[in-house]
Amino acid sequence: MSFLETIARRRDGGIHSPSEIKALVQGATDGTIPSYQLSAWLMAAYLNPLTIEETVDLTLEMAASGEKLDLTGLPKPWVDKHSSGGVGDKTTIILLPMLAACGLTLVKMSGKGLGITGGTVDKLSSIPGFRTDLTPEEMIHQAKTIGLALTGQTPRLAPADGVLYALRDATETVRSIPLIASSILSKKIAGGADTILLDIKCGSGAFMHTLEEAQELCDVLNAVASVAGIRLKTEITDMNQPLGRAAGNALEVEEVVRILRNEEHSSLREFTIQMAADALTAAGVRGDCCAIAEQTLTDGSALGKAREWVVAQGGPASLLDDPYSVLERAPVRLEFASTGTGWVEQWDAAVVGSVVRDLGGGRKAKDDSIDLRVGVESLIEIGDQVVPGQVIARIHAATSESAQVAAAQLQGALSLSESPIERRARFLD
Ligand code: URA
Repeated sequence: MSFLETIARRRDGGIHSPSEIKALVQGATDGTIPSYQLSAWLMAAYLNPLTIEETVDLTLEMAASGEKLDLTGLPKPWVDKHSSGGVGDKTTIILLPMLAACGLTLVKMSGKGLGITGGTVDKLSSIPGFRTDLTPEEMIHQAKTIGLALTGQTPRLAPADGVLYALRDATETVRSIPLIASSILSKKIAGGADTILLDIKCGSGAFMHTLEEAQELCDVLNAVASVAGIRLKTEITDMNQPLGRAAGNALEVEEVVRILRNEEHSSLREFTIQMAADALTAAGVRGDCCAIAEQTLTDGSALGKAREWVVAQGGPASLLDDPYSVLERAPVRLEFASTGTGWVEQWDAAVVGSVVRDLGGGRKAKDDSIDLRVGVESLIEIGDQVVPGQVIARIHAATSESAQVAAAQLQGALSLSESPIERRARFLD
């Protein structure tokens, strides 16, 4: 069957057979289906969403497009964590060493930034020498030696997701529940873990804008996972404001290091401790999991594990002592101050994410290179009180022109209320 028929079937609201989906995934993986045809299919699938059965077929075929890591022999539990994507979401990079310090085995496949959301692979790429292209053998060896390993999509692990992920990003077809579910779960199945924590982001800076959409994604993920035989723990969390202080690759790594060094007691720290506790509980750890997770930050064991991790993947140990001795800084810094007085009602993650992307910190086209140094530091959260002239954000840019453009854009992120505003809950379900 020609792939044109597959495109036409999707366009016309038909249903794909399992063999049709297998052929699609094979053609995407071996390059025999050209990217313009895959892009046309993606748009048709965006407009006419796949059924649950089709989503299951797509997920399993994408997972089987490469190898599946065999974790046999590694200490159990085997845990993985994934976020559906947000602005400033660097939780994974803090959480992995925390959990490994508790004796869990973490083997994880991550992605690059999608749309205005950042990607763990891009963030880690700001660390000089840090490799995100580990082979399956290297993943297993590293997990055996230090308890954790992370890679991006490679030709050997979920390669079909690598192809479709990049095309979705470049064709405005990311915000499709079946495509998101198959992308996430194909990587999770290929990674081999038996317990998976999924953070489903909800809000302006996420792909799911409302609680209803987030719940629907959650339901589809659970339905596919149950057919695939994987244990999921899902959380729906707020993404209407950026997560933590930094949004932008190197800036986020610096924030991670401050938390691992126990130098920052922020809402991001609290959020990560709660996520880590969820993962520990889902993995069967008994006791006060929040206290166990927090202990890894206070006793330095997560920091020690992060040091082993960075070194094992080719980065410098000194990152964990003095991040800016190795991370590159953007040459221009511009402070963004409030002109009004009141309580922060909105500090819009969508606007902050777009600003970071427009500064060069994210991609607009598939093969764009990105500027890992740029980004926005948020010095406020929803609910804070501000006065005129108070610096509420710091822009890190490559040029003063791009910094000025960013400052103008950021005006649209902020709205103030004359009366006190409650802080937003981070966990929504
Ligand atoms: N994360 C993924 O891995 N894939 C998506 O489609 C969205 C978030």
